[in-house]
Amino acid sequence: VPISNIRNFCIIAHIDHGKSTLADKLLQMTGTVESRDMKEQFLDNMDLERERGITIKLQAARMRFIYENEPYCLNLIDTPGHVDFSYEVSRSLAACEGALLVVDASQGVEAQTLANVYLALENNLEIIPVLNKIDLPGAEPSRVCQEIEEIVGLDCSNAIYASAKEGIGITEILNAIVQRIPPPRDTAGRPLRALIFDSYYDPYRGVIVYFRVIDGTIKKGDRVLFMASGKDYYADELGVLSPNQLQVDQLYAGEVGFLSASIRSVADARVGDTITHFNRKAEQSLPGYKEATPMFEPETSSAMGFGFRCGFLGLLHMEIVQERLEREYSLSLITTAPSVVYRVNCIDGETVECSNPSLLPEPGKRRSIEEPFVKIELLTPKDYIGSLMELAQDRRGIFKEMKYITENRASIIYELPLAEMVGDFFDQLKSRSKGYASMEYSFIGYTESDLIKLDILINGDRVEPLATIVHKDKAYSVGRALTQKLKELIPRQMFKVPIQATIGSKVIASEAISAIRKDVLAKCYGGDISRKKKLLKKQAEGKKRMKAIGKVDVPQEAFMAVLKLE
Ligand code: GDP
Ligand code: MG
Repeated sequence: VPISNIRNFCIIAHIDHGKSTLADKLLQMTGTVESRDMKEQFLDNMDLERERGITIKLQAARMRFIYENEPYCLNLIDTPGHVDFSYEVSRSLAACEGALLVVDASQGVEAQTLANVYLALENNLEIIPVLNKIDLPGAEPSRVCQEIEEIVGLDCSNAIYASAKEGIGITEILNAIVQRIPPPRDTAGRPLRALIFDSYYDPYRGVIVYFRVIDGTIKKGDRVLFMASGKDYYADELGVLSPNQLQVDQLYAGEVGFLSASIRSVADARVGDTITHFNRKAEQSLPGYKEATPMFEPETSSAMGFGFRCGFLGLLHMEIVQERLEREYSLSLITTAPSVVYRVNCIDGETVECSNPSLLPEPGKRRSIEEPFVKIELLTPKDYIGSLMELAQDRRGIFKEMKYITENRASIIYELPLAEMVGDFFDQLKSRSKGYASMEYSFIGYTESDLIKLDILINGDRVEPLATIVHKDKAYSVGRALTQKLKELIPRQMFKVPIQATIGSKVIASEAISAIRKDVLAKCYGGDISRKKKLLKKQAEGKKRMKAIGKVDVPQEAFMAVLKLE
């Protein structure tokens, strides 16, 4: 199709507001995917995503749609919905000219949705408001429209009322995509610039790169240069996503596709990088590239042996990576509690970055410690304001501002240490608000804090991966809670196991796990062999994800305990 008949769009929605269901309906209505081929939701095609009901990876799909007897090519670029992935969202928005803003008509606008709408507005995207779930008895689309107008300042006079589930309003949405979202600019004659918005590793073909051609033309076999990484390759395979990969010979400005080029590591094809031609380089790369901070470094510890220290975007990201490594690569892993990166100003004038609490310079060597702070914005129905402010206060939050955005909903802004947010803050926010509050955060900088190192000793051995950096005022309560939690989590052994929390050489809390005496099999009176086997199997399963620390078997959960203290 000509470039004037191409539309590139994404869907902005809060988790559960119906993005995947709508995407599936769009694919069905355009005949891109036969309904019998649909395995529930097509765009979320990773098992893990489906289980958790969230969208993790960016995906794209090309649809054909006939509008007034003319064929159009609609490219849907999916965006992740979780707060941890805002950079990925921003890059997929940058690959589009428009966005569907899907809001659950029985709920309303959420913090993350707001943040993403602002990103879309910054990128000059045409936004089409879609009020979803109008089939629900509690749906109030006109109230929610008013809310969007008040909060976002977006005109909702031509918002579309829809039910992705019942298939209501889907044709209106497709028509609106054609009518309201502008086509890409025709810049096929310029030097190539293509924006990478996703990539993944395929064991047979190397890294598969998803991109949007912003300027120029790319042909199969072209020698291409990735401007930020500085690496060059031959594009062996070029194709579109329909939504399965379909090879093509050329892609022009405005089109969305993928390439493979025997790229060995996803680190060489980063989201946000610009692809250009090796022999006809673009003068400037596309704006918005951000160096990825997550990284992996080999590390050894006397307690854990060989391992890697990895950077993650958040806890969810970490859990997903762990589960994928276990499911897809059959690895058995122990992860230890994450640490933020502290800045330690030493007496000798040097500043060192420290992400491993057990390597914190000794008190005698350091002058001060700085920790990263974030600004968080909570959106909540007014009933939960008190409970959420208590939560933020308890996490060393500094109150900044509160305002009512509608009669019933408030926005609350706090600044707080990132270290206080990496744990169960998000879970707490959800449980205290019965799922109704949402949040958004951004990094604001480093601030000096009164921090100390808390060590944990199990059976007299200092356990490096359990060392943690805490605020002085919280050290005693964290020490007590942590030793108690470890006592619950570590199974009883054949001998008594003392657990201690220390600051320097001072013990501030201690607990002990009493010994087990009886052989578990003694209960079986020697008779029933199948029952014996069952018991042994149960024991073996219980041993999964255990790490021996000295003579003590410590389960995976214990290494994360510090994040889940009451
Ligand atoms: P996502 O997290 O934004 O991708 O949301 P999903 O598409 O996974 O939908 C979340 C839940 O809402 C699922 O249980 C869907 O079946 C349900 N849902 C989605 N759209 C509608 C709708 O129009 N009406 C109703 N009643 N339920 C819907
Ligand atoms: Mg989804």
